[in-house]
Amino acid sequence: MARIVMKFGGTSVGDLDRIRRVARLVASEAKQGNEVAVVVSAMSGETNRLVAMADDLSADSKLGGSIDDEYDAIVASGEQVTTGLLAIALRRLGITARSWQGWQLPLTTDGAHAVARIADINTDEISPSLSDGTVGVVAGFQGISPTGRIATLGRGGSDTSAVALAVALKADRCDIYTDVDGIYTTDPRIVPEARRLNRIAFEEMLELASLGAKVLQTRSVELAMNNNLPIRVLTSFTEDASENPGTLVCHEDETMEERVVSGVAYSRDEARITLMRLSDEPGIVARVCRAMAEANIIVDMIVQGRSAKKDVANLTFTVGKRDLDKAITALNNSREMIGFEGLKHDGNVCKVSIVGIGMRSHTGVAQTMFEALAERNINVQVIATSEIKISVLIDAEYTELAVRALHNAFNLAEAS
Ligand code: ADP
Ligand code: ASP
Ligand code: MG
Repeated sequence: MARIVMKFGGTSVGDLDRIRRVARLVASEAKQGNEVAVVVSAMSGETNRLVAMADDLSADSKLGGSIDDEYDAIVASGEQVTTGLLAIALRRLGITARSWQGWQLPLTTDGAHAVARIADINTDEISPSLSDGTVGVVAGFQGISPTGRIATLGRGGSDTSAVALAVALKADRCDIYTDVDGIYTTDPRIVPEARRLNRIAFEEMLELASLGAKVLQTRSVELAMNNNLPIRVLTSFTEDASENPGTLVCHEDETMEERVVSGVAYSRDEARITLMRLSDEPGIVARVCRAMAEANIIVDMIVQGRSAKKDVANLTFTVGKRDLDKAITALNNSREMIGFEGLKHDGNVCKVSIVGIGMRSHTGVAQTMFEALAERNINVQVIATSEIKISVLIDAEYTELAVRALHNAFNLAEAS
């Protein structure tokens, strides 16, 4: 007998038939004598619908006033519906089950609405209930803030709910069921020849997730890595476990290092800003970063270039596309403090990255990457590297071409 956390994403619970299938998957684990907690997302499309309504009404307001906390109250409702539906479907299969909302556990978070971080999960009630044989159906994505308000964990946050719950419950397994049958060498929607990996190292998955591979929320991988909890990613579309090996996200082993590049990720959520004609002196980057930090904006890639004039520089950096307008306003408000003469921006850019722990010990990776892009005439605007990744910023129009070119250049479709 084991204690298991199973998580089902939006597509997996997208309609009642799919919820029935999920119930059968859960029932099969429960009938084998396992203690099962299930974390569910909102039905597919539901969170987008709720976000759009919240945004629409917020945009109406000329009066100002924070709406952040009510956004969470709205968007968290999608998960609540799914918990009830799945609990009913389970009961119809003869399984004892009940729903748990974030506040009922309670799962407490910090105060940051819409991007809250989990502070603690109280398992005093749910743990004995699982031991008594009741399947717990827990709403992903949500918790309560220190002031008792509903708080949500950022898009894709149900993955993090599941991993955190597995850690808190000391679960033996954390299985993330989704609409693909594992982690692929790149997004299979863009490259049909992409290959499922049997295993991937936490660090690689962390990079892939933070660089845009939406299959797992970045913080879920971070949490699993820090708590040494392997995650299995598998599909909810089959009920035959023997056909569903999935991918194990776990600590690296030697065979993983033989792979130079494990995957290609892309993110269209980027925007580029260039500040022109800054005085080229120590401290200018710090001043720009200060203006962005004060506006709560994360700066990602940065490159400083000389301008034609002596002692004058241009500074290019990227921010999240959602933050572009806020960033421009903040920069214009700090124009004197920073001391720039012109500002250009472009929201039509994409960050494409290659990731692999083998890059630590292999040479020639950058050369292969840049040659592959050059052969397709793809211009690189900004570059960022770390020990196990290289990212480039390119025109969004070439996203698919670049992802395919890199997937091909590193022979990722072939088993290593
Ligand atoms: P869920 O609703 O189950 O949380 P998501 O839509 O958040 O599912 O994540 C699954 C999707 O992630 C897949 O449909 C796939 O298009 C995308 N994806 C992006 N990169 C990868 C990758 N490297 N491996 C697998 N899926 C990926
Ligand atoms: N429903 C939320 C979202 O769509 C959380 C999740 O599915 O993980 O972002
Ligand atoms: Mg997801």
